[in-house]
Amino acid sequence: MGEPLSLKNHAPESLRSELAAIGVEPYRAEQIANWIYVRGVEDFDAMTDLGRDLRVRLAQLATTRVLTFVRSETGADGTTKGVLRTAEGHVIEAVTIPEERRTTLCLSTQVGCPLACSFCATGAMGFTRNLTTAEIIDQVCRMRELLPEGQSITNVVFMGMGEPLLNLPAVVEAVKILLHPKAFALAPRRVTVSTAGLVPKIPELLEQVPVNLAVSLHATTDAVRDVLVPLNRRFPIRVLMETLRGLESITRRRPVFFEYTLLEGVNDSPEDARRLATLLKPLPAKINVIPMNSHTDSPHRPPAADVIDRFMAELALQRMTVTLRRSRGEDIDAACGQLAARETGSGPRECSTP
Ligand code: SF4
Repeated sequence: MGEPLSLKNHAPESLRSELAAIGVEPYRAEQIANWIYVRGVEDFDAMTDLGRDLRVRLAQLATTRVLTFVRSETGADGTTKGVLRTAEGHVIEAVTIPEERRTTLCLSTQVGCPLACSFCATGAMGFTRNLTTAEIIDQVCRMRELLPEGQSITNVVFMGMGEPLLNLPAVVEAVKILLHPKAFALAPRRVTVSTAGLVPKIPELLEQVPVNLAVSLHATTDAVRDVLVPLNRRFPIRVLMETLRGLESITRRRPVFFEYTLLEGVNDSPEDARRLATLLKPLPAKINVIPMNSHTDSPHRPPAADVIDRFMAELALQRMTVTLRRSRGEDIDAACGQLAARETGSGPRECSTP
C-alpha cells in the first residue's frame, strides 16, 4: 500500500479523481469536503452519512489532519498566534487577528523563506521547504478551533512565513479550497495573496484564482529596495510596476494592495512618500503603511510618531488611498515581520489586513 491520500491536499474538483483512484465514488468528494471544512469533522467514524464500509476504507487509505499544536498565545488585543508542527517536526506559525467586523487569518506557505528581506524575522531563519496544500489548509482548521464561540474566520491573507508565489501550485489549490462553496466558501475579495515581487508568477496566480494581490514594496528606489528586499535585484521596481500595469485585463481594475513598512531613516522621508505616490498613481493602488515592528534579528527600528505623521500627510496631499496600520500582536511576536517560529520562548512576517 502506498502513502495514504491526504484529503486536504485537494480541492473538491481534484479530489474526485483522487478518490476514484482508491476505488471511492467521485461524488463523495463534496460530501467529505462538507464534513471536513463546513462541519469541522476530521474523524471518518463521525461522518455519519457515509456508509460504514466507506468510513472504514477511508480510515485505512486517507488522512485529514496534518498539523499539531506546539502551543498558542493570545495577546492583549485578542491576536492569537498558533505555533504548529508538521508531521516531520518542522515548526510554522499562523495568526488570527480579530477586528470589529471581521477576523483575519494570516497563513504561512513555507518553512522559513529563501528571500531574506532585511527587516524580516522569517527571512533570518533561512529556508527549509515549501508547505503542502494540506499543511496550508490545516492552519485554517486548527486556528479556527481557537476562536471564541460565535466567531469565525472571515478573511484570509497569505502573509505569514514564506513567499507564497515560490509555492504557487500548493497556494492555488489551497485558495480553491478556501473559495469552494462546499468547503470554506469565502468570497474572493476576502482572500489576499502577498508577494515580495516574484514578477513572472504574478499573472500566473491571478489567471488561476480571482484573489486580491498584495505587493510588499517597502521602498521607492532600487538602491534601497535592493537592500531591503534582495529579490529586487532580479526584478527591479520598473519591471515590477510594468507587470502590475499589465494586469488590468485579468484583474479588471481590482485594487492592488501595497505594503510599505516604515523603517527609521531608511524609507520614511517626505521625498519617499512623494516618490511612492508617483510610482503608484497609474495603478488602482491601496497603500498600507506599517511602522516597523522591532525584533531582535533586525537592525531596523520604527520611525518616531512625528516622522510617521509627516509621511502619511504627504501621501494624503498626493490623494493616495492609504491606511496606517495599527500594530497587532506585538506582545506575542505575532506582528508584521516578527514570525520566526522559535519553538521555545517567544517566536514567529508580515500579517496585514487589506
Ligand atoms: S518579508 Fe516575506 S518574502 Fe521577505 S523574507 Fe520575510 S517572509 Fe520572505
